Amino acid sequence: MTFDPALQDADPEVSDLIAREDTRQRDSLRLIASENYASRAVLEASAASLTNKYAEGYPGRRYYEGMDVIDPLEALAIDRAKAIFGAEHANVQPYSGSPANLAALLALVEPGGTILGMSLPAGGHLTHGWKVSATGIYYNAVQYGVRESDHRLDMDQVRALAKEHAPKLIWCGHSAYPRTVDFAAFAEIANEVGAHLVADIAHIAGLVAGGAHPSPVPHAAAVTTTTHKTLRGPRGGLILCKQEHAKAIDKAVFPGLQGGPHNHTTAAKAVAFKEALDPSFKDYAAQIVTNAKALGEAFLARDHALITGGTDNHLLLLDLTATGISGRVAAKALNGCGIELNGNSIPFDKRKPFDPSGVRIGLAALTSRGLAAEHMDAVAGFIDEGIREAAKHDGAVSDAFATSLAGRVREYLQPFPAPGLSH
Ligand SMILES: *Cc1c(COP(=O)(O)O)cnc(C)c1O
Repeated sequence: MTFDPALQDADPEVSDLIAREDTRQRDSLRLIASENYASRAVLEASAASLTNKYAEGYPGRRYYEGMDVIDPLEALAIDRAKAIFGAEHANVQPYSGSPANLAALLALVEPGGTILGMSLPAGGHLTHGWKVSATGIYYNAVQYGVRESDHRLDMDQVRALAKEHAPKLIWCGHSAYPRTVDFAAFAEIANEVGAHLVADIAHIAGLVAGGAHPSPVPHAAAVTTTTHKTLRGPRGGLILCKQEHAKAIDKAVFPGLQGGPHNHTTAAKAVAFKEALDPSFKDYAAQIVTNAKALGEAFLARDHALITGGTDNHLLLLDLTATGISGRVAAKALNGCGIELNGNSIPFDKRKPFDPSGVRIGLAALTSRGLAAEHMDAVAGFIDEGIREAAKHDGAVSDAFATSLAGRVREYLQPFPAPGLSH
């Protein structure tokens, strides 16, 4: 038995599947708002031997020996995270965004305590107290939504619910809301009712890092995020907080919720944080928003309906009600045409969450490939063509149509190298 063949020799099945995924990611128009292309450097770090090491605890306070490398590595990731966001404290160990949110709850609210968060159908995340999430099962969750008239956050409703229910913690942040969040207004309400404000910037962390969205860090007790969405790092989580909550947050992550940190991911986070600290990341963040706005205009020019009429961030919510097909059906048809996006509920959706009326479109991944505002008309054209064809045929598109559109998409993307993937 030899232990060291490269993946292709050791396991051709897995190797081939990975190669197929590389090709798929290279050839398709990737518009899922939570996804991106991590750089080759980030991917390399996440494949490092650090995965072999156990390191329960924190730098300088570990339960295992052999921390010569892990300690300075984690300290480096922490310092860079603090520098990006101007935070007093950072915990880089959360396995992903959901565990980061659970840790914030564990640190700041006693079990069964009342929390206030944005509801899932309005654009919030499961972990902000939705009923099937642990956060809705173990805590008394109250939820706010958006205004029916303009589908924007209604701070009067947030204030009224906060006054009525006196939550211990208020969540702000979202997975499908195309507008800027007023963190100062949330902080004012949290302050009025004596609640901790926690901002979950999983979707917009890259925009905040690059100065293309206001930062919640000055306003919130804690800020949670993923590292793999607009921040363009490895799959993982991150918590930033005020010094006064540092101990409680660290205790909640370990030993409260997790065991050993994933050191290979810590390394990849450190690499991604270095990339985010580079001045060019500001341009990247600004370009994402520019592209999203341009794509929105291109959809409006093609008579599509956008929730809130446009966007301030990286994402658009298209309301497909007028087309006669659901978001899920459209997304499935488009996927066969090399266009990847997801069906999504729209505010006050008349359809079920599993078969919603909208699609969500994010620009982080295409922007990472170098597409700019002048390319957005073509992108809208591909999507519009697919949706119209699907609508004409009750949701289905023919194989010939799908093959033709997928081929044109692949050709269009050819001049834009996909970061991280071999060519
Ligand atoms: C994606 C997301 C999360 C969860 O992240 P996972 O890494 O999938 O667990 C949490 N909050 C928000 C707002 C998100 O969009």
